[in-house]
Amino acid sequence: MKTMEDVQQTKQENVQAYVERIMKIIEKRNPNEVEFHQAAKEVLDSLVPVLVKHPEYIDHAIVERMVEPDRLLTFRVPWVDDQGRVKVNRGFRVQFNNAIGPYKGGLRFHPSVNASIIKFLGFEQIFKNSLTGQPIGGGKGGSDFDPKGKSDLEIMRFCQSFMNELANHIGPDVDVPAGDIGVGAREIGYMFGQYKKLRGAYEAGVLTGKGLGYGGSLGRKEATGYGTVYFVDEMLKDNGLSFKDKTVVVSGSGNVSIYAIEKATELGAKVIACSDSSGYIYDANGIDLETIKQLKEVENKRIYHYLDHHPNALYMEGCAGIWSLPCDIALPCATQNELDEQSANMLIENGVKAVGEGANMPTTLDAIHTFMDNDVLFAPAKAANAGGVAVSALEMAQNSARLAWTVEEVDGKLKQIMKNIYQDSVQASEEYGVAGNLVTGANIAGFKKVADAMIAQGVN
Ligand code: GLU
Repeated sequence: MKTMEDVQQTKQENVQAYVERIMKIIEKRNPNEVEFHQAAKEVLDSLVPVLVKHPEYIDHAIVERMVEPDRLLTFRVPWVDDQGRVKVNRGFRVQFNNAIGPYKGGLRFHPSVNASIIKFLGFEQIFKNSLTGQPIGGGKGGSDFDPKGKSDLEIMRFCQSFMNELANHIGPDVDVPAGDIGVGAREIGYMFGQYKKLRGAYEAGVLTGKGLGYGGSLGRKEATGYGTVYFVDEMLKDNGLSFKDKTVVVSGSGNVSIYAIEKATELGAKVIACSDSSGYIYDANGIDLETIKQLKEVENKRIYHYLDHHPNALYMEGCAGIWSLPCDIALPCATQNELDEQSANMLIENGVKAVGEGANMPTTLDAIHTFMDNDVLFAPAKAANAGGVAVSALEMAQNSARLAWTVEEVDGKLKQIMKNIYQDSVQASEEYGVAGNLVTGANIAGFKKVADAMIAQGVN
């Protein structure tokens, strides 16, 4: 006779096989899109317990529908460089899921951008945005345009051309892009200007991350980095730890890194290293953030110029070496797959206690498992870096109300949102029998809200 345990075991195996079948379909339908496969696999594996408990999600083919975007747009972006030559790039926008709100997610301008990158980012955005508790669906976009070394006028012409097509597909209640790697307030400004011109209307809420003088929100620029540190701080506190007197390594030196460094330092940590795509700097005295801001936000210079101001610091070529530095807390804030299993092992050997993902999918699947197997506290990106898009949603709310909140108001809301995300992730991990596994907890908490909305809205 079958015991209850046997029945449960069979259910679990059936769901596992079901998830594997979907994974196969994903791989077949999206050949060679390795980043998208990786992001899907991480989510699908963690959904097994929720699908065992809620077979209605299987009946409604929720997972099959979620992994297929509503639409993926690709388009030609022609522009003229300063020498008068015509250049052509490819533009993308994936509108993945709008069950709980308009598509929302950034635009990335980087030569590595392709359909796989945009789809992994757009897919993750569904769950991240759901976790924020704000009414925003999942989308993402960008281009293989390389902003490095381009003049201001070239950037403007590119942004205008990009928007000439994108404007046909977005709107404050349809799809609301923002920044990501290679897209900051300057690019958003040029795109907003072009959108306004094309529409003949001032639809402030069509883009977020705008300048403060025309509908941007105070605290948006800082939100992703601050949010990551707020989230990690919750996780540390829950485990009897804190940032105080801890040694921290933060990869990257863009918007996320800069404000993660700022907040971690404010909470009493010493940040000893950060990087750019060429290499990393190590400053035993603690990174001087004003120098980094000057180099990266004002002068647009490589990070080794830090040594011009701090000759005692060290510069090393290559990025992965940053994880060989002994630290208590590691915050990968640069880009996808920047922290692999080998780096994870180095960090563990050197006594790392916690890892918080500020970038999107910076840790490989093997490295995540290595951290978990070694009891390193691990804050996954969808939860830990949700602060940026959360404040984007607050920017949309301010634009709709034609109001501007104070920085204290925005930061207070951000802190509360990050706390809620932490608690929701912990609670889901406990409810589904994987207590302490925030990867699974965050995926499940983000998934359920979207899945329930999809069931309520019927098959579409
Ligand atoms: N690019 C950011 C992210 O990965 C922010 C997106 C937004 O604000 O819409 O979440």
